[in-house]
Amino acid sequence: MHIWQGDITTLAFDAIVNAANSSLLGGGGVDGAIHRAAGPQLRQYCANLGGCPTGEARITPGFRLPARHVLHTVGPVWRGGSHGEPGLLAACFRACLALANQHQLNTIAFPAISCGIYGYPPELAAPIAVEESLTALACRDKLQITLVAFDTEMVEHFATALSGRR
Ligand code: ADP
Repeated sequence: MHIWQGDITTLAFDAIVNAANSSLLGGGGVDGAIHRAAGPQLRQYCANLGGCPTGEARITPGFRLPARHVLHTVGPVWRGGSHGEPGLLAACFRACLALANQHQLNTIAFPAISCGIYGYPPELAAPIAVEESLTALACRDKLQITLVAFDTEMVEHFATALSGRR
């Protein structure tokens, strides 16, 4: 597993994960960056998918992105932690990794799902990201997972979670 700081839209991976909203029609944060980089065809394609519930994922082509596919998942909005948020966040990782498995995608990059506009405390989200990634990596030889942090603070949260697990 790798931790990398930067813009997820620049990665030429089999798939990058989008922290989407349930309409799948684009939004702010990483979602906005992915839609801008992929071009208008992504929105047109997403409009035919009929949305996506929290904790699930949908696959699309990457269009103008260097990544071949986008795995769109809808993270939980943080509402204090007792509304099923940890289970829903784990479900996002699992849903994306199940799609990656089905489509034989080996190199996958995840942003810090829910840690932006959706307000999930990054120190609580990072251990879930690490745990779900390590579980998937243990099951599939060729799989490579990169956790992408946009800022140095998020790098620290991922690194702390990973060192706590090792
Ligand atoms: P959510 O609505 O799920 O909280 P956000 O896009 O608001 O999603 O934020 C999720 C995380 O993605 C945040 O940590 C944010 O800093 C990060 N982020 C924003 N833009 C990018 C980008 N271009 N590449 C990677 N990560 C990004």
